[in-house]
Amino acid sequence: MTQAIYEIAVPTPLYRSFEYLAPEDGASAEIGSRVKVVFGNRNLVGVVIAIKDYSDFDISKLKPITEILDNRSLIKDETLRLAQWAIKYYQSYQGEILSLCFPTALRKGKEAAKKSEMVWVATDETPYFGRAKRQQEIYEIIARSSSGLLTSQLPAPKKDAAIIRQLAKRGAIKKQPIQICKQPETYKTDTIHDLQLNSEQQQAYDSICSNLNSYKAHLIFGITGSGKTEVFIQVIRQILQKGKQALILVPEIGLTPQLVKRFTDRFHEKIVTIHSEMSETEKLNSWLAAQDGAAKIVIGTRSALFTPFADLGLVIIDEEHDLSFKQQEGIRYSARDMAVTRAHMRNIPIVLCSATPSLESLNNASQGRYNLLQLTQRAGKAKQPNISIIDIRNQKLQGGMSHRFILKIKQHIESGGQTIIFLNRRGYAPVVMCHSCGWTAKCNNCDVRLTLYQNENTLRCQHCGYAVRTPQHCPDCKEKDITPLGKGTERIEEALKAIFPDTSIARIDRDTTTRKGSFNKLMQDAECGQIQILLGTQMLAKGHHLPNITLTGIVDIDSGLFSTDFRSIEKMAQLVTQVAGRSGRGEKAGEVILQTHHPDNPTLYRILFNGYQEFARLELQQRRKTLLPPFTSMAVIRAEALEKAAPKQFLDFVKEQLQTNEEINTEIQLEILGPIASSLHRRNRHYRVNLFLQSTQRNVLQETLEKLLSAISNNKLGKKVRWHIDMDPQETI
Ligand SMILES: [Zn+2]
Ligand SMILES: [Zn+2]
Repeated sequence: MTQAIYEIAVPTPLYRSFEYLAPEDGASAEIGSRVKVVFGNRNLVGVVIAIKDYSDFDISKLKPITEILDNRSLIKDETLRLAQWAIKYYQSYQGEILSLCFPTALRKGKEAAKKSEMVWVATDETPYFGRAKRQQEIYEIIARSSSGLLTSQLPAPKKDAAIIRQLAKRGAIKKQPIQICKQPETYKTDTIHDLQLNSEQQQAYDSICSNLNSYKAHLIFGITGSGKTEVFIQVIRQILQKGKQALILVPEIGLTPQLVKRFTDRFHEKIVTIHSEMSETEKLNSWLAAQDGAAKIVIGTRSALFTPFADLGLVIIDEEHDLSFKQQEGIRYSARDMAVTRAHMRNIPIVLCSATPSLESLNNASQGRYNLLQLTQRAGKAKQPNISIIDIRNQKLQGGMSHRFILKIKQHIESGGQTIIFLNRRGYAPVVMCHSCGWTAKCNNCDVRLTLYQNENTLRCQHCGYAVRTPQHCPDCKEKDITPLGKGTERIEEALKAIFPDTSIARIDRDTTTRKGSFNKLMQDAECGQIQILLGTQMLAKGHHLPNITLTGIVDIDSGLFSTDFRSIEKMAQLVTQVAGRSGRGEKAGEVILQTHHPDNPTLYRILFNGYQEFARLELQQRRKTLLPPFTSMAVIRAEALEKAAPKQFLDFVKEQLQTNEEINTEIQLEILGPIASSLHRRNRHYRVNLFLQSTQRNVLQETLEKLLSAISNNKLGKKVRWHIDMDPQETI
C-alpha cells in the first residue's frame, strides 16, 4: 500500500499548504480533522485539507504528523469547500481556513466536546452587608438572575474581583455548572401563534415558501417598520418543521438583543448565538450544538457563517447593507456574499433583508439573480413620518442647532414623545484653533486634527488613540486664545442640557458605551420612557425598536455629501433613511427634521422625498455610466510602512509587473489606477498608499491577481511594507 500524504493548512502567513506523513503510530486522519504538526521549530495546530497517495516532493524529507486531535472530521466537506473558495476569491493565506472554520478553543487544540461553564449563583444564606455597599450590589445582581451569571457577565468583573472573592468566602454565592441545554420554560409549551401577516408580507412569505428545497436568493426590501422580521420568522418555522436548521446573520449582535429575545419568545427549539462577546467555551458549545444538530437556530455575526451544521436549510442576512459584514482584517471577506455562495453550494434558499439594500443587491435583483420582495407599508397602525428640511445658511445656531430645530424638540417633548438627535461626530469639537495665530492641534502619528473632549480636558486622535491635555496657551504664539471649532455629540449634549434642564438626555456613542452592556442598558431606559432625548452617532440607527420616538432630528448632514469615496453617498442615504425610519414606529405620527447648508442638493432631496428606491435607481445608473461596482469588479492593493517612500516603491513595482510581466498577461482588459496616497496618508505613523485594479470581467481580475501574487509575494520591496489585497473593497479612499 502506498503511503498516505496529508495536505495540511497551517496558521502561517503563506499562500500554500504543507505536506506531512501519517503519525508514527500509524493512526489515520480524515479531511477536516485537526492535527498537531511541527512547522519550522514551532508546534502548530493545522487542519487536513486533502489526503493523497503521491507527493511532488521527496517523501523521505516529509515529517510525520505529531498527533491527530480528532478521530473524525469536525467540519463538513461543505464548510471546508466554502472556506477554500473564500481563500481563493479573496487571495488570502491557506492558514486562514483555520480562523474561518474553527472557534478559538479548537484552534488552540482543545478537545471538541461541550464543556460546562461555571456560573455564580446565590446560596440560601442571606448575609448582612452593613456598609459593604458594593458587595450587596453584586450579591443582588447575582441573586436576581434565574440561571446564574458567568464572571464575565458581571458589570465590572476585573475591578470587582476581590469583592466577588469575598462574597464567595462568606458563603453568600457559589459556583455551579451552567446548564448547557436549558429546558424550555413551562409557559412556552403552549402553542405559539404567529402574527397575522398583511397582504404584502403574505406575498413575500408565499413566494419564499413556494420552494424551500433548492437554491434561490430573495431580497426583502421593506421600509423601516414594515415587518420584515415577522416574515422570516414564519419562513424559519417552515424550515424547522422539515427538521432542518436555520442560520441568521446580523451585523452586530450587541445591538440586536431584541431580535434574540423575539426568537426565544417565538420558538420552542434550541437557539444559540455566536459572536465575539462570548467566552471561548460558550462559543465552542454553540458551535458544537450547530454541528451535531442540537441547535435548530443559530443567530450570529459575520464569523458564524462558517459554522458547520448538521442539516442547514435556510440562511437569512438581516440588514444586508451593513458594512460590518465585510471583515476588515486578516481575510477580508464579505459574509453577505459568502452566504450567498454557501446557499448556492448547498442548494438551499437565502433571504437578504434591508430597508436600504446595498446597490449590489438591488442590481442583482434587477438582473433577475435575486427575487425582489417589497414591503412598502408599515405594519400595524404606524404611518410614514413627515420630513422637513431646515436651511441653516445665515441662521444663528445654538450648539449647532437652529431656533426652529430647538422649537420642534420642545413641541415633541411637551406632547409626551421621545426624540432622537443624530450627529455622526463624536467628541466636543473636531478642531481646536488658536484665534490669534491660526494654530490647530494635530496628531503626532496621523495626518489629522485632534478632537477635543471637553469633559476630559483632552485632545484625542480618533484614528490612533494619541491623546494630550488641552493646552491653556497656544504652543506657537503663547496667547491664551484657543477655541473649539465645529461640533460633536458632546457639544450638542451640553447645549441640549442648557436648553432643556428638566429633561432627561442620554448621549449614545462609542465614548459612552465602552462598557459591555451599557448600550443595551441605555436602550432599555429609553424603552421604558426614562430618557426623553437620545443623542448620538450612527449607533442610534440600529438597535431597539422604540415605539414612542416621534421626532428624529439630524443636526448636520453636509459632511456626507462631499466625500471622494464613490460609496459614501450610498452609505449616507442608508444612514439617513435608517435614522429617519426610527421616528413614528408606534401609534403616534412621526416627524423628521434635518439641518443643512445645501437645501437644494438634488441627491439629498431625492433621498428624503423620492425615497431610497428612487435614489438607488439613479445612483445605479450613475455607477453604470462611470463603470464603478457593481458594474465592474474592483480590488485594491494596499501597502503601508513607516518609511515614506517604501509603499509607493512597492506598488510601482506591482504596477510594472502588471504592465510588463508576460506571465501575468497584459492583453486583458484591466484598468490600473494609482498608486495613490490614501486620503489619510499617514495613520499611526505609517504611510499608506493604494493601487486600484478594475475589470468588467470578474474572472479576469481573479486570474490576474492570482498570477500577480506569485510574481510579487517574494519580492524584497514587499518585505519593507505591510501589504494586502482587498477584493470588493468597501472603502476606496
Ligand atoms: Zn497661537
Ligand atoms: Zn493619530
